[in-house]
Parts: sequence; structure tokens; C-alpha cells
Amino acid sequence: MIKKIDHIAIVVRNIEEALQAYQGALGLELTDVKEMSEDAVRVAFLPVGESEIELVEPITADSTIAKFLEKRGEGMHHICLEVEDIEAALQDLAVKGIRLIDKQPRQGAQGRVAFLYPTSTHGVLIELIEKSD
Ligand code: ZN
Repeated sequence: MIKKIDHIAIVVRNIEEALQAYQGALGLELTDVKEMSEDAVRVAFLPVGESEIELVEPITADSTIAKFLEKRGEGMHHICLEVEDIEAALQDLAVKGIRLIDKQPRQGAQGRVAFLYPTSTHGVLIELIEKSD
């Protein structure tokens, strides 16, 4: 059901500052920075093998990510797993007792996505993605 880790999202206060560590010190390549107005964030993509690290910076004070940052500080936000068929995956997980934040997939930047409650996955927020081609 799971193909790979698609990305690991890390919430940061400022992408340019964070790039000093991830690009400058760790030497990862920066492929794209874009604004996703729906979620009120800027996102930077740094591929690592067949996965990516995504740095996520809030651009408004009242967004979900801004509240996360205020409450928890900088750090890992979620792990995204790529699946072949997101509807089938959600149905299967629901049957197995996993609580779904998104019962139906919604459109994300790179495909259809859905989140699972961290209470069902031992404290880690997990996103599923079915990539659009
Ligand atoms: Zn994500």
C-alpha cells in the first residue's frame, strides 16, 4: 500500500535562515520555493534521494502552521507517505481503526492528500499522498 516516504515537513520561522543549515551546512539542493496561499505558508523543497525535506514557513499569524510554531516551536510537523490509491488506503485504514482527519482526500500542491490523527499513529502526524502525473 505504501510506496515510499514522499516528504518530511519541518516547520521553521524563516526559510532563508533555515536554508543556512539545510542547504549551506548539510549541502542539500534547493529545487523550489513557493507560496501556497490556501494554507498560508511558504514551502522550500530539498530532495534527499527519492524523498524530500520540505521547510514550511507560516506567512500569516493565524494559520494552523503559525499556531503550531507558536505552541511547539520549530521542528518536525509531519511525515508524508506516498500511496498508489488514496481512496483505497483511507478506506482500509478506517476499517483497521485508524482515525482520519480527512475522510475524503483533498487537492494538494502535488496530488491528492489526506491526514491521519497522530493519536492513531503514536504521536506522529501522517499525511498520505497520491501523486498526480
Ligand atoms: Zn506534507
